[in-house]
Amino acid sequence: MTTPLTVHLPFNREILGAAFTPAKRGDKPAGERGHWILVQEQNLIVAPADGGFRLPHGECPLPLLDGPPPFWLGTYRDEPCWVVPVAADAGVPAHLARETVVPMRGTRLPDELLSLGGMAMQALWWESTSGHCPRCGEPTSRIEGEWGKKCPRCTYEHYPHLHPATIVLVRDGDRVLLTRKAGWAPNRYALVAGFVDNGESLEACVAREIKEEVGVDVKDITYVGSQNWPFPSQLMIGFVAAYAGGDLIIDRDELEDARWFDVDSLPAGPSRHSIAGYIIENYARP
Ligand SMILES: [Zn+2]
Repeated sequence: MTTPLTVHLPFNREILGAAFTPAKRGDKPAGERGHWILVQEQNLIVAPADGGFRLPHGECPLPLLDGPPPFWLGTYRDEPCWVVPVAADAGVPAHLARETVVPMRGTRLPDELLSLGGMAMQALWWESTSGHCPRCGEPTSRIEGEWGKKCPRCTYEHYPHLHPATIVLVRDGDRVLLTRKAGWAPNRYALVAGFVDNGESLEACVAREIKEEVGVDVKDITYVGSQNWPFPSQLMIGFVAAYAGGDLIIDRDELEDARWFDVDSLPAGPSRHSIAGYIIENYARP
């Protein structure tokens, strides 16, 4: 029996603990007052406070344009949380600030706001992609008490589409195998990752992605934790694996470079906000 794994990373809802309850449980509150999650592309419009940031609070701080009403995401710190998409070219009021949600762009938002912002982005993405039945094209309606949508004509039901992807650190004693893609910041390396195929187990996905991208075989594939990743809808499933043989053969369509690094001289890594950073930080050393 091993200890249950808990990865305390932003974008995982559990980082909010009891402070957040999703809207699918309970009745929509009357009146649109509370916390405001204003999403402008991959940014939040937030209020600077005490050297950091918080959500705007009270009445909506921006004029609500024509369009769907604010989306009720849930209850945060005992008050309703409303999501509003903001046009890409809209200006930001002087008392508010635009902050990126994207870790690799150097987000300065606290982890709780990243988790709320990630859920808000996913909710908007889901709303924008689920309005019509994917089978027959009829407008859908929300299934009561769920995020899912149902078609009134053909009765097809669908739920938020999350895309599972594995991400893996390959280890061999005192060295680890890292990869980089073209266009990344100089000397920045990360892990092998890829989407799960139809009919494929997670472990098979890990072994296949490593074989395809860097040519080597692995064994002892071990799950270490997962992270919800709202860009726009991945579920990253983290593993470590042991090198089992083979020469490095780099897939140049996917990667610019891949190489073994001594664990005492690792290159610049992924953001601390990502499960890739978490895995390297916690699992690179034997
Ligand atoms: Zn239908």
